[in-house]
Amino acid sequence: MTDATDTRQVTIITGASRGIGAAIAERLAADGHDLVLTYRERRDEADAIARRCASSGARVLLLQVDLADLEATATVVPAAIAEFGRITGLVNNAGITGRIGSFLDASLEESDGLFRVNVLAPIVLTRAAIAHMATDRGGAGGSIVNISSGAARSGAPNTYIPYAMSKAALNALTTGASKEFGPVGVRVNTVSPGTTHTEIHAAAGRPNAPEERAPNIPMRRAGEPHEIAGAVAYLFSADASYTSGADIRVAGGN
Ligand code: NAP
Repeated sequence: MTDATDTRQVTIITGASRGIGAAIAERLAADGHDLVLTYRERRDEADAIARRCASSGARVLLLQVDLADLEATATVVPAAIAEFGRITGLVNNAGITGRIGSFLDASLEESDGLFRVNVLAPIVLTRAAIAHMATDRGGAGGSIVNISSGAARSGAPNTYIPYAMSKAALNALTTGASKEFGPVGVRVNTVSPGTTHTEIHAAAGRPNAPEERAPNIPMRRAGEPHEIAGAVAYLFSADASYTSGADIRVAGGN
């Protein structure tokens, strides 16, 4: 007899304690996914999100991982498989911007940390997820969504060029991996949010960035995390069964 849990999607979401990652977690839980949620340090907020997902019927594994530590990052996919027996999806969501300012003022140490979290950790996670999901390795296929940014195309001058560079690298991961692993049942897509109301702006030194940028956004407002989560949910749905290598911009017209 097939257990009902065998047919549920099992999806890893990095940086799910707050902001866009938390909204993705709540939305995918409501859509019937079991979840592996990672966070860096905000244990209480991560616990609260995990409880909310569980109340929607999701089984949840919560993992504390600093994605700048690539050895720790390498334990995430094996831990997920140990808990659920398999995974069917990954959302590379966690990301940091560095401080807003001129390219000439950004320290190399900051860029080093930024590239670990935004680029190297997704490489580690994506490789492990694909090695498990690819049909030529005994897997059942799966779906990966990379959370990029409009900064990848604008270059974010006077703001955070290294961050923009890291997101351009993530876009290349989607393009390359969707082509390399399409034949073995793995879809890879990007969602590129525009400015969205989260705490990432305060961490960058500009808490009011959403309000400051609103006049330059065609819809005249920043986005809300649940509006980004809707695009991610689409990419995990049956409606997206032929969608791979796409970049869905959720940016109010920008
Ligand atoms: P956020 O509110 O700052 O939340 C960041 C999340 O990532 C938190 O769960 C945090 O965990 C986790 N995290 C941060 N550094 C980490 C590390 N070193 N190791 C592990 N986890 C770490 O960010 P957000 O605005 O939701 O952004 C989510 C994604 O969307 C990012 O990739 C970002 O670049 C992208 N994005 C955001 C915007 C925007 O305007 N908000 C626009 C375009 C793209 P803790 O809570 O434990 O610290």
